[in-house]
Amino acid sequence: MNETHLPPLPPIGTYGTEVCATVKIYLAIWSDLTPEQQDTILHHVRICPPCAEEEHILQQATHAISHLEASSPSERVNRAIIAAIEAKSRAQQKQKGRVLPLRPYRQKQGYAPLRFGLASVVVAATFLLVALVALHFVKTPSNGQQAFILPAALTWTSYVLYQTETRTNQKGDTYHVIGYYDPQHQRINVETKMLDGSLDVIMVGNEQAHEALGLDMMHHVAQWNADQWSIDESMFSLNALREELRTQQATYWGTTQFQGQTVYAIHCNNGLVILLDMHYMPVNILSGATKPGTGQPIYDTLKWMQPTAVSPTLWNMSVPLGFTMGTLPAKP
Ligand SMILES: [Zn+2]
Repeated sequence: MNETHLPPLPPIGTYGTEVCATVKIYLAIWSDLTPEQQDTILHHVRICPPCAEEEHILQQATHAISHLEASSPSERVNRAIIAAIEAKSRAQQKQKGRVLPLRPYRQKQGYAPLRFGLASVVVAATFLLVALVALHFVKTPSNGQQAFILPAALTWTSYVLYQTETRTNQKGDTYHVIGYYDPQHQRINVETKMLDGSLDVIMVGNEQAHEALGLDMMHHVAQWNADQWSIDESMFSLNALREELRTQQATYWGTTQFQGQTVYAIHCNNGLVILLDMHYMPVNILSGATKPGTGQPIYDTLKWMQPTAVSPTLWNMSVPLGFTMGTLPAKP
């Protein structure tokens, strides 16, 4: 591709109308771009709604053109396909009580069995214990077993939860897990990235649609049913926490200091401790806590964002332009 007639590719992480104008030019000549150029463009599209829209339109156009040659299937074929889809969706509904790729921290409470065992959570928590050295946690005297009541009007579902974790696998490789979770619409976007740059996988999940799309951002390979790349959000169910408090399966451990702020600490049925700020919003989850003042925070960052502050492209479930269907790499 002769690049002399093109404006220079905007660096990753840049925004603005000029950047978008350039991105649109590159999108229009997508198949002529090098993998490195495509990668740079995709990073922008992922965070820029107007460009994502443009990409979506181009993708549909490409799709339509590639199907122009195909003949229409006969009525008999149509009926067979519809019957197969219906049978599959009936089977799925029977099989899965709660399909989204959210892993069951709270499985003890008898949710329908999911594909993910508690064991993997325990393994992950063990790695975290090893990995997390910085602990900014100061104990204040606990007030013992007081009643703890969450305000009736409280809600967590009108926000999008942003979270980052640093994990270390068995081989000692460190990787980041960056998640966006929209509890209201049961959508999730999880990026798993090796620190050495050897892996970058994004999973977009939608529980209502029973879909999980995995994207290998390094090789531009997409795969459906990628729910094993999801993360557990069950600790952020306010209803589950209310129920545990009501039935005294959860214990209030009093207030404590966490990273410079006063928080309420609640020890949950699964052994994890949820920390709430003075507005009753979760600020972190502790694992390995045996008494007030102990435990390791699971998340490097935990933020509740206004839904308008996150890009709607995070929830885009279409296979991006330039991706081929295939198999994702192994999880770290
Ligand atoms: Zn843009």
